[in-house]
Amino acid sequence: MTRPAVRDDLVALSGYHSPQLDVEVRLNTNESPLPPPPEFVAELQAAIGRIRWNRYPDRAATELRAGLAERHGVETGQIFVANGSNEVIQTLLLTFAGAGRRVLTFEPTYAMHSQIARTSGAEVVTRDRRPDFGLDASMVCSTMDSVEPAVTFLCSPNNPTGMADSAELITEVVAGAEGLVVVDEAYGEFAESSAVELLGEDVPLVVTRTYSKVWSMAAMRLGYMIGPRWLVAELDKVVLPYHLDTVKQQAGILALAHTAEMECRVAELVESRHSLTTALSGMDVDVWPSQANFVLFRPRRLRGTDVWQGLVDRSVLVRDCSSWPRLENCLRVTVGSRTENERFLSSLEEVLSS
Ligand SMILES: *Cc1c(COP(=O)(O)O)cnc(C)c1O
Repeated sequence: MTRPAVRDDLVALSGYHSPQLDVEVRLNTNESPLPPPPEFVAELQAAIGRIRWNRYPDRAATELRAGLAERHGVETGQIFVANGSNEVIQTLLLTFAGAGRRVLTFEPTYAMHSQIARTSGAEVVTRDRRPDFGLDASMVCSTMDSVEPAVTFLCSPNNPTGMADSAELITEVVAGAEGLVVVDEAYGEFAESSAVELLGEDVPLVVTRTYSKVWSMAAMRLGYMIGPRWLVAELDKVVLPYHLDTVKQQAGILALAHTAEMECRVAELVESRHSLTTALSGMDVDVWPSQANFVLFRPRRLRGTDVWQGLVDRSVLVRDCSSWPRLENCLRVTVGSRTENERFLSSLEEVLSS
């Protein structure tokens, strides 16, 4: 058989890789170490018993969208929900990017923005952040003027640096934008500010969020976007019909009744992040200030990959970012439970002094 040829523009694409090794301490994918409350699981089990399995789900996911709208003080029509924020991003890019259009990202940032943009057929243009990984509004605006992107991605807090963009910066960028500005707030609740208050019907801005990290529900694949009503209506035309199953809609609704517990877990992780950052600052590594549930660091004397392997040898898995753009020798550690963090720190100490 001669294999059917995949699209020319996809041949060179390498896909998304994050090794899922069998270790005791997994601090590599920014999952929450704390599960949602047992009441939530019991309520979901009961809700599953009431599902009419022969019927398609509510295509508009009205109750879930209404609940999210209430949480953010916006209208139901401003919410779009999908299978993880990655599917939100895919739907945005299928609607606004695609062949013949450009997508702009600032490296280092979340790899899926450019990955999904490429699979949509768009041309991806990347620019570097400042050496300290911050962004200047003037640089972003002048780049947008010359590149003319259909979609520009910001990520706040940014994965993998943990740094957030100020409301002033986002306001300035959006004011000068021709195309759509997407602010990925996958870690929004861990941060001090949000772009949600900058949204408006005539503002070319959307904010994406996810249940994967903050809500301790990575197993569920549920994400959403807040944006102008007209834009949500366009996404509804592009996304597959009945894309969000009934179980997931129920889980999303029931989780919202446990917002207080979610906020407690977030507060606990933010506190642990401070301790982790302080401990790392006393070691032979460079550390970046984080507003998310992870911390980026760089060993000063050893190779990043060697330190990563040394940690794996001690059954601790962190993310090896050392081959990513601009991140030579960098590693990213997720804030885990207190015992996991201690295990990570003592293992790192051993590796660094070996
Ligand atoms: C983890 C992460 C996501 C999550 O995507 P889901 O599909 O919702 O799990 C999105 N954006 C960023 C920047 C992330 O780090």
